[in-house]
Amino acid sequence: MKTKSGDFVLPGDILGVSEEFVPSEWTYEEEGRIRSLVVGVVSVDNKNKKIAVIPKTSSPSILKKDVVVLGRITEVRGQRALVEIEKVKDSNRSLTTSYVGGIHISQAERGYVSRLTDEFRIGDIVEAKVTKVIGLDNIDLKTSEKELGVIKAMCTKCRHVMKKSKNEVICTNCGNKESRKLSVNYEG
Ligand SMILES: [Zn+2]
Repeated sequence: MKTKSGDFVLPGDILGVSEEFVPSEWTYEEEGRIRSLVVGVVSVDNKNKKIAVIPKTSSPSILKKDVVVLGRITEVRGQRALVEIEKVKDSNRSLTTSYVGGIHISQAERGYVSRLTDEFRIGDIVEAKVTKVIGLDNIDLKTSEKELGVIKAMCTKCRHVMKKSKNEVICTNCGNKESRKLSVNYEG
């Protein structure tokens, strides 16, 4: 029996054999077989030969309130910036699947923000704190602390990485100046 990504599984279901795959998140190994620990959906990483399960009902305990995560801005809408969460800060274990978080305009900075595009742009790398986990693709984040916010900004004109200069960022390639919610940990 072999499972593929997207298959729905129950606790104890066989996902594969340990000669073929390394058991990863939410799985366990028993007598050479990799089984699911939870009700969820299979995620197969063929490149790294890893097999994991994405829990269906509960969110992974690793993502909880006050945990700081690293992610990439994928969309900036009127009131909400979407973040593809890549990892938990200070954890060398990367997440087996990507989780989607959102930063509401009221959670971007301490003060009033009139335009969210003054805070974040697509492609920026941010550090943000989890405020609420609703689901795997619905995690509320905030950046309204000085050590949170953009740590790497991408120029909207040429996609080059930007350098921090006081409260703004300047593109070292084209000279474009932009505004961001910068973290004190900005890396440039
Ligand atoms: Zn540029």
